[in-house]
Amino acid sequence: MGAMPNERAKRVLLAKPRGYCAGVDRAVETVEKALELYGPPVYVRKQIVHNIHVVRTLEQGGAIFVDENDEVPAGSIVVFSAHGVAPEVHRQAEQRDLKAIDATCPLVTKVHAEARRFAADDYDILLIGHEGHEEVIGTTGEAPDHITLVDGVDDVANVKVRNPEKVVWLSQTTLSVDETMETVAALSDRFPSLQAPPSDDICYATQNRQQVVKEIAAECDVVIVVGSTNSSNSVRLVEVALQAGARAGHLVDYAHEIEDAWLADASTVGVTSGASVPEELVQGVLDHLAGHGFTDLTEITSVKEKLTFSLPRELVLDMRAAEKAKAEA
Ligand code: SF4
Repeated sequence: MGAMPNERAKRVLLAKPRGYCAGVDRAVETVEKALELYGPPVYVRKQIVHNIHVVRTLEQGGAIFVDENDEVPAGSIVVFSAHGVAPEVHRQAEQRDLKAIDATCPLVTKVHAEARRFAADDYDILLIGHEGHEEVIGTTGEAPDHITLVDGVDDVANVKVRNPEKVVWLSQTTLSVDETMETVAALSDRFPSLQAPPSDDICYATQNRQQVVKEIAAECDVVIVVGSTNSSNSVRLVEVALQAGARAGHLVDYAHEIEDAWLADASTVGVTSGASVPEELVQGVLDHLAGHGFTDLTEITSVKEKLTFSLPRELVLDMRAAEKAKAEA
């Protein structure tokens, strides 16, 4: 006798790429290497990446997370997070005689450079992003007199510029691609001469994670995104899954947050994770799902990612010096 439909193994569609991007990998390794090289404590301004598990793990290793430079004892080491900082934050660090190691993702640094360049050419820069997000604060700090934040399509009607013929849009790196394009279309209606950034500001990792979620969403009764609530790209993944046809979507930091009710009537669950999420947390979710009968696991790969970034130069130089000193001892 064949198996009854409700006896079939329930399915998991596991999105790939998911989890750590090159910028997060570099930022976390920066703190780990700094702890190894200088010894604890190493101060970190803001969460190095927006994931509570990563932050707690680094704290156990001797990292101390602070909100601002003035909480760091003079002369100490401070790491700036992957989201980037305004130039003013570097100046404060110098004034306090802090040794700053800048773990800003190079793709955020690229947006900062665009902001400086367009500001130098006296453009009005419309920065599409979420108000209060650290990355937006950092980028705005590059050219506060030239940048206006546009927090979604509803904000477009309020935007004021000095010269509508000289306007460019830039964006936060971790937005929804589709929503951003809607906002850009609305801005273009108001400012027909609006220029686009020279290359995509929404980073490859954000785009790729959204793309594969779109591919699996319609087949999923529920999509579980592993990530923290303050992680912009993780929150966007839930929204993208719902927009692309998932019947439900939830964000969890840990497997134990998954509610039985979410799985009760589900036969296919999609799983992915934000760019700041270690793979062990995804494995925890997969184990939890297997314990609830979701044992038919298929990994759906959209693109292969190969990008890596080297560690911050100031750290690399100190690591080399330490190696040299050890060899000569
Ligand atoms: S999400 Fe994108 S911009 Fe942010 S750290 Fe990762 S690669 Fe860099």
